[in-house]
Amino acid sequence: MAPPQSDQPDAAAGSGAISKVLIVIAMQTEALPLVNKFKLVDAPPHESTFPKGAPWIRYHGNYKGLHIDLVWPGKDPVLGVDSVGTVSAALVTYASIQMLKPDLIINAGTAGGFKAKGASIGDVFLASDAAFHDRRIPIPVFDMYGIGARKTLETPNMLKELNLKVGKLSTGDSLDMTPHDETAILNNDATVKDMEGAAVAYVADMFSTPAIFVKAVTDIVDGEKPTAEEFLQNLVAVTAALDQAVTEVVDFISGKCISDL
Ligand code: SAH
Repeated sequence: MAPPQSDQPDAAAGSGAISKVLIVIAMQTEALPLVNKFKLVDAPPHESTFPKGAPWIRYHGNYKGLHIDLVWPGKDPVLGVDSVGTVSAALVTYASIQMLKPDLIINAGTAGGFKAKGASIGDVFLASDAAFHDRRIPIPVFDMYGIGARKTLETPNMLKELNLKVGKLSTGDSLDMTPHDETAILNNDATVKDMEGAAVAYVADMFSTPAIFVKAVTDIVDGEKPTAEEFLQNLVAVTAALDQAVTEVVDFISGKCISDL
């Protein structure tokens, strides 16, 4: 996610205008309003982009001088639910970087927020950092590998212009939170908690692709209501706030270089 090396195309290296943006989203409910907003079209057959057998879905189109690819990991082939979580997110991000060669990745989605850290329902955060909270390996150095903390691309100008909050993001493969997770999230100093971000960050970093993380709060983790219930109650309304924020982010990116962000 740091600005990449010189063998990268100009835009990814920070000097040319950004032309290809990859939006990675975990859930269909989060993805479809953005598909409509940016007037993206389905890119069938998916096998022409992704290996046969992968349930991953890609939409694409041109918007304000940018080529946008929006990918989501699709439905679990057996259970029919959205393929949320780190494994699917990492795989679809990996394949998309290889096939689509984006200049910038936007991982957009919903998240749990900590009111003790200033989060409220409907807030949209730009994550300054991403780390894992459920990869406990209590051996020196492996412990740090497990946490996998990374800085995201710094976007000082975007933050000045857009009305987004800033906070650290902690990622794990569960919607609920065990006491172990809670301690690790506190150690990560996180304000928001999701199930994909740090995995997308890991892959983006591997291939020196700048990445930003736009996370809208559907539920308050340190509040009274059960997370799953609160998440489902707020999903549709908060998705509207997420779409609004992602649109503003993409509008801001249009015509700029990575180093202008
Ligand atoms: N029952 C839900 C399951 C979605 S899982 C359904 O209707 O399908 C939750 C998704 O929202 C994940 O993609 C995750 O990144 C995000 N999310 C929202 N609130 C979260 C929280 N409190 N903890 C972890 N992930 C959360």
